[in-house]
Amino acid sequence: MGQLYDAPMPVDDLARLVLEHQPCVVLTGAGVSTESGIPDFRSADGIWRKYDPMEYATIDAFLANPEKVWDFYGKRLAALGDAEPNAGHYALADLERRGWIDAVITQNVDGLHGRAGSRKVVEVHGSIRTASCLDCGTSLSFEEALAALPLPRCTNCGRALKPDVVMFGELLPEAAIDRAVRLAAEARLFLVVGSSLEVYPVAGLPLETLARGGTVAIVNRGETPLDGRAALRIDGAAGETLAALAEALPERLE
Ligand SMILES: [Zn+2]
Repeated sequence: MGQLYDAPMPVDDLARLVLEHQPCVVLTGAGVSTESGIPDFRSADGIWRKYDPMEYATIDAFLANPEKVWDFYGKRLAALGDAEPNAGHYALADLERRGWIDAVITQNVDGLHGRAGSRKVVEVHGSIRTASCLDCGTSLSFEEALAALPLPRCTNCGRALKPDVVMFGELLPEAAIDRAVRLAAEARLFLVVGSSLEVYPVAGLPLETLARGGTVAIVNRGETPLDGRAALRIDGAAGETLAALAEALPERLE
């Protein structure tokens, strides 16, 4: 019988890092959601090979033709909303409950961390759960917005609502980024899971931890630009690795 994993699993080393470096803050990227069947938008067979992002996913495209952008997002984000959290999401929620991790910063917009039970979640690329008016800030749930297709409008001022996911050409939500930078600076361990750390400014968060003498660990399939500065790197699947981490750690942080 062939060997399933590279033995020995380096998860024990990761557990030791989490034990010895508190607080621990986790950054999650697309790799955490692919196991829920959500495609990585930036991967080789990602959605932007078929659809020109300039036409569907920029803030300018939205402002020029919101109805066309809603047609595109409506179909795809409704499918996103049907996805279920996986073992990785549940392990992170469990680790937060047990005191081992302080917060999850995520590049994912699918809301699966919250649905798995994570309470302290910073969504730096926004979320599909809501759509908001760019003028007055009125916000609807995504379901309410979908019910109003082809063009959901602000119930207050009538302007077209925008999905609360960050579009290309749009700044990241300032409050979320500020909070993420603060968490990264305070972390003694910054654990990257399922992100190839290619998208700034989020990719710079581990540098905030390193600059203050903290430690970085990376769980990701494939290389990242920060591999050389990480105390530990696991080239593995997010769900399997996080579930093993939750099992390897003592019940509670004392
Ligand atoms: Zn409005």
